[in-house]
Amino acid sequence: MGRTSKDKRDVYYRLAKENGWRARSAFKLLQLDEEFQLFQGVTRAVDLCAAPGSWSQVLSQKIGGQGSGHVVAVDLQAMAPLPGVLQIQGDITQLSTAKEIIQHFEGCPADLVVCDGAPDVTGLHDVDEYMQAQLLLAALNIATHVLKPGGCFVAKIFRGRDVTLIYSQLRVFFSSVLCAKPRSSRNSSIEAFAVCKGYDPPEGFLPDLTKPLLDHSYDPDFNQLDGPIRIIVPFVTCGDLSAYDSDRSYPLDLEDGSEYKYTPPTQPPISPPYQEACALKKKGQLAKEICPQDCPMSTVDMLPQ
Ligand code: SAM
Repeated sequence: MGRTSKDKRDVYYRLAKENGWRARSAFKLLQLDEEFQLFQGVTRAVDLCAAPGSWSQVLSQKIGGQGSGHVVAVDLQAMAPLPGVLQIQGDITQLSTAKEIIQHFEGCPADLVVCDGAPDVTGLHDVDEYMQAQLLLAALNIATHVLKPGGCFVAKIFRGRDVTLIYSQLRVFFSSVLCAKPRSSRNSSIEAFAVCKGYDPPEGFLPDLTKPLLDHSYDPDFNQLDGPIRIIVPFVTCGDLSAYDSDRSYPLDLEDGSEYKYTPPTQPPISPPYQEACALKKKGQLAKEICPQDCPMSTVDMLPQ
C-alpha cells in the first residue's frame, strides 16, 4: 500500500495533515462546535483521553490566549507538548489520575469537559460497548467534580444496546442531552457523541470519587427503561452537508484543481507500541514462523527471533 493511498481513502486524514492537526478527530470537535457552539464563553477546559492531541489543539486555539493550564489534557499515552496545554499522563479510571485532575480545578472550575476516549476494541461488541461505557462514566465522574454549574460535557459513546442507560444517567446531571454524529465520523462506525449542556446536578448531590456512578454490579435489566423514565434523546447529525463524506474515497486532487502534494503527519506518534517491532523488522529479525509440528495448537505465530 503506497503512502498516498490513505490520503485517497480518508479525506479527513489527509485534510488533518494539511491543516496541521495531529489527528482527523479534530474535525469531529470542530463540527460539533459548529452545531452546538461549545466554546462560547469557555475559558477553562479538560480534554480526557487526549492523545495524540488534536482536540487539545482545537481547544487551545479556540479558547487560546488564556495561558498555560486553561486546557488540561489527560491520556494513558505520552503526548508531544502543546503550547498552553497542561498534560497529565494517566488512566482516567484510576483514582490517582482523577484526583490530580480535580486538584487542578479546585476553586476555579471548568466550563467544558470533553472525552474522546476509546478502549482498544476487541471486536466483541458487548465487551467493547461495556468498556466504552465505563470510560464515559469515569469521565462523567471527573466532570461532576470539575464542572461549574451550567457547564458542558461532550463524550464519545457507542450507540449500542445499553446506550439508553447512559442517556438516563447523563440526564440526571445535565438539563439537555443529545446524541450527535459529525460528518467526519464514519457512518459505518457506531461512534457518536453525547452532547450534554447545562450542568445541574440533583439537589444535595455530593460528588464522591469512591462511588462510581456505575459500578460492576449494575443490573442490565435496569436498562429496559420504559414509561415516563424512558429517555429518548434527540439525534443530530452535524457538519455542513457540503462537508466531505467520511465513508467516501476522494480523488487526490480536490476541488480547487491544484496538484496533490503528500503531507507528512503533523506529529508522528511518540513511543508507539509498534516501535520495537518496526526496528526488529528493519533488521530482518522480526518474524519467525512456528512450524505446526512445533506448536501443539497448530497455530502459526510471529515471534521475535
Ligand atoms: N481526541 C484525541 C485527538 O483528537 O487526538 C484522540 C483520542 S483517541 C481516539 C482515544 C484515546 O483514548 C487514546 O489515546 C487512548 O490512549 C485513550 N484512552 C483509552 N483509555 C483510556 C484511559 N482509561 N485513560 C486515559 N486515556 C485513555
